[in-house]
Amino acid sequence: MIRVAQCWDDGVLNDARLADIFRKYQAKATFNINPGLREPNTRTNKWKYQDFEVQGLSLAEMPSVYKGFKVASHTMRHPNADKIPVADFVREAVDARKYIEDHFQQEAPGFAWPCGVTTDDTVKALSDCGFAYGRTTKNVESVLPVAEPLRLHSNCHFLNPNFWDIFAKARPSGVFYFWGHSYELKNDEAKWADFDAKIARLSAEPDVQWIDVIDIVR
Ligand SMILES: [Zn+2]
Repeated sequence: MIRVAQCWDDGVLNDARLADIFRKYQAKATFNINPGLREPNTRTNKWKYQDFEVQGLSLAEMPSVYKGFKVASHTMRHPNADKIPVADFVREAVDARKYIEDHFQQEAPGFAWPCGVTTDDTVKALSDCGFAYGRTTKNVESVLPVAEPLRLHSNCHFLNPNFWDIFAKARPSGVFYFWGHSYELKNDEAKWADFDAKIARLSAEPDVQWIDVIDIVR
């Protein structure tokens, strides 16, 4: 058996289409959001990924988009951990957790580091205030054993050209964990079809069991 986990960052409109694919194949997923960067009732439209205008979900539509999935703190406003005082960073992380607990009817012990940046002080501080894990952007061949849950590494980014080789190499460890941003699929139908097929293939593997990211560390 291989347990498979995935997570997606930044709370953008493409997550809605992503979530529909996951529902279709009964895949689990965690979405890491920045509530402080989003508007209550309107979609934000503040940056471009290559030629694609990325839209942020409105706060109002997030609960229905993410219904049935886990939501985790990615801080309120996406500061890098080495750029602001530790206490401010902790507040950013905890306020997002509280926002999620209040609006999504779920506990939110998970965390994803903005831009993957960690510091020893913020790692300790987030552990002290009860975060169960913090995902970095570092790739490792084996996610297990988790040496430091607040520096939880994944196997790969979802668009890694060697995705299936990495999956095969992760098999002996019993866990495969990948991550990404749904905006990287842009409005490129070929990319969406390819991704749909990827999730379908994982779900069709007889020994794959989808898990939430939190299950890796619990
Ligand atoms: Zn991010």
